[in-house]
Amino acid sequence: MGRVATVNQIIPFSCVDGPGSRLVIFMQGCNFNCKNCHNPYTIDMCNSCGDCVATCPANALSLTHDPQGKPKVVWHSDNCTQCDICLATCPRQSSPKTRQYSVEQMLTLIRSQVFFINGITVSGGEATLQLPFIIELFQAIKSSDDLAHLSCMIDSNGYLSTNAWQQVMPYLDGAMIDLKSWQQETHHYITNRDNHRVFASLKLLAEQNKLYEIRLLHIPNVSDFDREIDAVAVYLSQLPASVRVKLNAFQHHGVTGEALNWPTCSEQQMQELAARLTERGVANLILPNVYL
Ligand code: SF4
Ligand code: SF4
Repeated sequence: MGRVATVNQIIPFSCVDGPGSRLVIFMQGCNFNCKNCHNPYTIDMCNSCGDCVATCPANALSLTHDPQGKPKVVWHSDNCTQCDICLATCPRQSSPKTRQYSVEQMLTLIRSQVFFINGITVSGGEATLQLPFIIELFQAIKSSDDLAHLSCMIDSNGYLSTNAWQQVMPYLDGAMIDLKSWQQETHHYITNRDNHRVFASLKLLAEQNKLYEIRLLHIPNVSDFDREIDAVAVYLSQLPASVRVKLNAFQHHGVTGEALNWPTCSEQQMQELAARLTERGVANLILPNVYL
């Protein structure tokens, strides 16, 4: 079947994951472990332990074995009621509801939507953990007469190495990068990773004119953009004028664990942060439409 990707979900049309109307591929697996993750079941890969199978009330899961005798959990989507009991059961922050797609299968799906979209976005989880698939997919799109007009974008936590970005750069139209916090300590506390590589990715993408959007999640009293407002504003002001600065407001939807004790971000708090950035010369700010 050639190169395959493990995919958690595909949304045929989205208008919030890059410019225009886009087909969005949410890959399974992430190299961050954010306390505030809204989709924690996308973080790890299923190891077919089978723990979730018996909990499914709709007989939508079964445990089989591959030709080598390894256990394999199979998801029968026709039976699935999307109750998500399996996600709550899983001890690994994973999901049995993933699918494997070859590049050819993904191209067929994209062709079925081609008249309705401006491009595709790979997201996650952390899409770049499956970079070889992304490169093959983007290459195929750019070399197909009927698909070459589609823009190819990556939504990422920015942890990809500079060398790896360079491999996908010839086929990449733009990237949306999350900056989860300004200071190392805060970033590490939230994500379990440092942000040196995030800043390196932002620099590289900006230099190559491929940084479409930087995303800042405001978590009052937890993320530090408000405490570090002067340094953050200087940094954002120096990005190319075309880069969108998207402010996201932390909410509890989908969150588990200690982050449920963190305060959510109100519209007023968001507007205060935006006003302080604007005062300091940051332009091109995008604020949330809803606060749920
Ligand atoms: S969401 Fe999970 S537990 Fe619920 S019906 Fe689907 S497979 Fe079964
Ligand atoms: S989704 Fe989780 S519980 Fe279910 S088989 Fe995979 S690792 Fe085990």
